[in-house]
Amino acid sequence: MPKTENEKGIVEIVDGKYKPSGTFHIIEKNQPIFDKDANKLAGVTNPRDMTYIHSYGGEAMFFESLGKGKLIATRCDNDNCEFKGSIYMPFRIYCPDCLRKMTPLNLTEIARKTAKVHSYIITHRSGAFNTLDLPIKFINVEFDNVVTILMSYLVVGEPEIGKRVVPIFRTKNPTYTITDLAFVPEGTLESELPNGFTF
Ligand SMILES: [Zn+2]
Repeated sequence: MPKTENEKGIVEIVDGKYKPSGTFHIIEKNQPIFDKDANKLAGVTNPRDMTYIHSYGGEAMFFESLGKGKLIATRCDNDNCEFKGSIYMPFRIYCPDCLRKMTPLNLTEIARKTAKVHSYIITHRSGAFNTLDLPIKFINVEFDNVVTILMSYLVVGEPEIGKRVVPIFRTKNPTYTITDLAFVPEGTLESELPNGFTF
């Protein structure tokens, strides 16, 4: 059941320490599971409502930037790395080849000009806790000069391999999760975007 305002688990960081307030674990009355045919007990339900504290660490800047309409990648700038200059999207903190910390890089313009659908899958049934509209048009997106492929979703039109797409961002009331980023076909009008999203 939905939580009341007082039951919501809120976390702030004060003086470098996590300060949780509210309720993070709620238990509801359990229910028996009866076998109606045999008229005997088969088990019980265990209702549990848990708020998970997910720390973003060095990736926090990526999620914060989405709500500001920016897509931040990283690049290895280590002179001693065989793959120096490689650009990664999704955001990776460390280079997978030399394990050095990489440099954040604003990829928004490259994404606007070069993003293409690499492959896609349309999902009519989702897992638990899905917040996206069904069917979900998952797309793998490729960008010029980027060595990785990004998983995202298309919210206008139909996906096609090779189709040019542009990023859109949930800049009004961002959720600070990866769903603040989505894609639409190139040429989509601002008026066609979902509520809260801008180019
Ligand atoms: Zn490297």
